[in-house]
Amino acid sequence: TRKIDILGVKFDNYDFDTFYNNLLTRLDAGSSTMVVTANPEIVMAANENPLFMKLINETADFVSPDGIGVVKAAKILNTPLKERVTGYDLFCNLLKAANQRASKVYFVGAKEEVIQDLRKKVQAKYPQIQIVGCENGYFKEDLEIVARRIKKVEPDMVFSALGYPRQEQLLAILRKQDLPAIMMGVGGSFDVFSG
Ligand code: UDP
Repeated sequence: TRKIDILGVKFDNYDFDTFYNNLLTRLDAGSSTMVVTANPEIVMAANENPLFMKLINETADFVSPDGIGVVKAAKILNTPLKERVTGYDLFCNLLKAANQRASKVYFVGAKEEVIQDLRKKVQAKYPQIQIVGCENGYFKEDLEIVARRIKKVEPDMVFSALGYPRQEQLLAILRKQDLPAIMMGVGGSFDVFSG
């Protein structure tokens, strides 16, 4: 399908179920897949930062309209998007899929107490998920070092919650190395899920 351009960011135009099913297909095929869930703040940030724009449009495999503001902007521009596809909804659904498949999942980001809480909640709700990494987002190391640590444990899914654009920059390193995983920046989703 044709991408919808909103202020330079090229969005995929799928309803939620189609978007999600595309990710499952790629998960089951073992394809390296990076998802950016772009809210209005991310669209604005990309307009200030050409490298971030390039990462979103050229490195990411899927870009979803995260928030009603993006959907409204698309309508005003006469290039309507089917519907909002939020990072949080994708995150929750992907965890269900990971549980069904006993997938290996890596979580990086948020504060230490939040990530430990997330671990407990995920383990209780989705006991089949293998949590192969769970680290807070306040490390001092370069993103390359963190990427190497993630790669080593061969996760099937990587969720990063470092705030943009850092969460996407970390995943872009792994995407460029073709890590066979679904990788998605999830902003404040760890806080929401654990809270
Ligand atoms: N975060 C992090 N490391 C940082 C900054 C933020 O792990 O250096 C986490 C923060 O704890 C929260 C998530 O990133 O869980 C999203 O933060 P925020 O809402 O401030 O980011 P944004 O809205 O900019 O994506």
